[in-house]
Amino acid sequence: MLSDRDGREAAKLDGANDTQPLTIEEIENLKVPDAFAPVVGYRRFAIPWPYRNYLVQKGHRWVPQEPTVAQCRRPGGSVEPSFDHVVPAQSCGCGLYAWLDIEEALRYYMTTMAGWVLASVIGWGRVLFDEDFWRAEQAQVVAFADPRDTHYNKLQIVQQSTGAWLKRVAANYEVPILPLEELREYTLIFGEEYVEHG
Ligand SMILES: [Zn+2]
Repeated sequence: MLSDRDGREAAKLDGANDTQPLTIEEIENLKVPDAFAPVVGYRRFAIPWPYRNYLVQKGHRWVPQEPTVAQCRRPGGSVEPSFDHVVPAQSCGCGLYAWLDIEEALRYYMTTMAGWVLASVIGWGRVLFDEDFWRAEQAQVVAFADPRDTHYNKLQIVQQSTGAWLKRVAANYEVPILPLEELREYTLIFGEEYVEHG
């Protein structure tokens, strides 16, 4: 099965073949990291403090209602020129991150000023996979988990303030807030789970 992206890569390969053949390694580098369908993932977002109605990950503002495109940023926050390397790069920590499953996303230790929410997301374009997470060139928020489920062991006032913030953010991103047990099934409408082959 060839995706549009495959077609473009194939055209690039053909063009390159006119001058100098690519090595097997170069061909694999072109093809292997690309996911053919969006891959689903889960991540916690810290609630920005002071409150703002959007989601941030390491300097990236995730765009409401459309894809967020990863940029390579150095600790100072400056954006590296894109010709430096493709994003995400094996040799660099850049890209938009998500865990492969909900349990990992909830297990990951996180300190925040104002709390967190759990979101499901899809990633596509260039995607690099690790054992339990991926990082992608592009990603988009699909849904949020209801804080009454993810924060069941927190104080009621925390559940309420988190829920109030999330309602505004979900409206901004135009995605639903779902019971935790429905999150995975709903997200699979928009992408596939990563299954390791071999
Ligand atoms: Zn980078």
